[in-house]
Amino acid sequence: MLPQVKANYDALGPQVAKKMNERFFEAYYVSTKEEALAKALELIGKDDLVSWGGTVTADQIGLKDALYARGQKMLDRDKAASPEERVEILHKALGCDFFLMSANAISADGQMVNIDGTGNRVAALCYGPRNVLVIAGMNKVAPNLDAAVLRARNVAAPTNVFRFPDLQTPCKIAGKCIDCKGETSVCAQFVTTRLCKPAGRIKVILVGEELGF
Ligand code: SF4
Repeated sequence: MLPQVKANYDALGPQVAKKMNERFFEAYYVSTKEEALAKALELIGKDDLVSWGGTVTADQIGLKDALYARGQKMLDRDKAASPEERVEILHKALGCDFFLMSANAISADGQMVNIDGTGNRVAALCYGPRNVLVIAGMNKVAPNLDAAVLRARNVAAPTNVFRFPDLQTPCKIAGKCIDCKGETSVCAQFVTTRLCKPAGRIKVILVGEELGF
């Protein structure tokens, strides 16, 4: 990352975290991936049951590995022995103590935008898990809510589809969202989290690095 970009992240990040705290999120700004990992491990209790929605950011900071290493209780759908068990884990995750995810975009005034296909990720964000921990790189921050929605639709979603090699969506060919409405679309649910209720349930670690997409 260019030093100018890093300096910009370190200048803007604490302001965005402050705006999120004014909206009742429990938000922190940290400058590095290493600090993000330490903060996440501090927030998650050793006896907490942890699960997650699709998040590459948690992997990028080494969080899942660190949780496994300290013997955390985890609901990991990728360890399911059958499709039925996978669905069961997805349902159980809605009652976990800490649900890990990232955000598709965050506006500079502290609102969060997420797009989901099946909806398990945004369902957990809205209600269910005792705590949600959002870990997001500063590359997710957009100047305002309109720009955040544009980012989620035109950057995050058309990139996310490449995580699924067998999925055929028109954005894979076009390289941008063309507002498809077919059965394969991964863009069914659009959620803007304007305020965190109850206060402090959604923890946010904003990281001064480029993480996720
Ligand atoms: S083309 Fe369809 S699947 Fe791709 S980003 Fe747009 S709405 Fe989502």
